[in-house]
Amino acid sequence: MFQASAPTRRIALTIDDGYDAQTVAGYVAFAQRSRIPLTFNPNGAYSAVWNRHADVLRPLVEAGQVQIANHTWSHKSLLKNRTDADIRADIERNEQWIQSTFGTTSRPWFRPPYGFHNQHVDALVGELGYTKILMWNGSFGDSTLITPEQLMGLASRYLRPGTVMLGHANHATILGLFHQIEQLIAERRLEPVTLDTMFGTSRAVG
Ligand SMILES: [Zn+2]
Repeated sequence: MFQASAPTRRIALTIDDGYDAQTVAGYVAFAQRSRIPLTFNPNGAYSAVWNRHADVLRPLVEAGQVQIANHTWSHKSLLKNRTDADIRADIERNEQWIQSTFGTTSRPWFRPPYGFHNQHVDALVGELGYTKILMWNGSFGDSTLITPEQLMGLASRYLRPGTVMLGHANHATILGLFHQIEQLIAERRLEPVTLDTMFGTSRAVG
């Protein structure tokens, strides 16, 4: 299928990991309140944090507002000291958890931990149904702790039509900034969408 060739003002907000309970809760509340489409890339290693939000997230997933992609269970780099069997197990364990918790498949989207991947990894994950490697072209820069000013500076720099934005549910800095980010999106007339909408992928096909 062809996407419309007319330029759009779409952006995809993609939120990784989830090791801070307060930040995950904030993102879930933000999704519920704002109705803004989001893609979460959670690690099952933090399932204790995510599982308590399953009842809220499931209907949002069902409605197509929230999409879940696979970021591995363990968040270990795939390029160092990993056997193929170990990599497969790490991804399939996360998929099983995502299916049972959120009622959806994460296929065909795979976000490699740290963005580290190579042709071998791509072929391996492709065999598991992950035919789309999820990289990014903009970032909130919050994989480590940064200030609200730094985060909004990056939001202002990168939230433009066509951006796949990388954020992390790991540090609370974002929690006080959701309103400012919504304002920025509205001022720039941006249209946040899921990966499915942005790239024409589908849950039914997986
Ligand atoms: Zn990550």
